[in-house]
Amino acid sequence: MSDLNEIGERDGWRCWLCDAPVDPEASVNSDRGPSVDGFAAAKGKKGAVMVERLAHRDCNTKKGKIAPVVAWSADLLVVDPSPIVATVDRLSRKGGREVIARCPSESDAQEASDWLLDRLSRFVPGMALSTSIEPGGGQYMLVLRAG
Ligand SMILES: [Zn+2]
Repeated sequence: MSDLNEIGERDGWRCWLCDAPVDPEASVNSDRGPSVDGFAAAKGKKGAVMVERLAHRDCNTKKGKIAPVVAWSADLLVVDPSPIVATVDRLSRKGGREVIARCPSESDAQEASDWLLDRLSRFVPGMALSTSIEPGGGQYMLVLRAG
């Protein structure tokens, strides 16, 4: 187990599950206190690589019972958004691309794209992901691509 402070510094004292700040001074026994979560990432030929990430204690505890959920921001105008964690997981295993959401306008899609890439830079640092926006059916599709 790496040092909590080291992981906290690296992750900017932000919880990788809920994306809210973690107080480095909070007790590790309090619900909103810092904890380290082991996360299987970068599944490659050699199997899963465990990455340690900073999380709130209660976010980490909840994750043990239910699959981790990364919520789409309520500020975005997205239609039919896909679950972020499941989509990223599939892309990390199989590569390729998936339509992750549909937006009513191109500027909504751009906003969703900016938000998503920023969020994913903290959720799966080191994983190469890019987005593109493709018009279709009177909407704009936000496509997430591995690599
Ligand atoms: Zn949290």
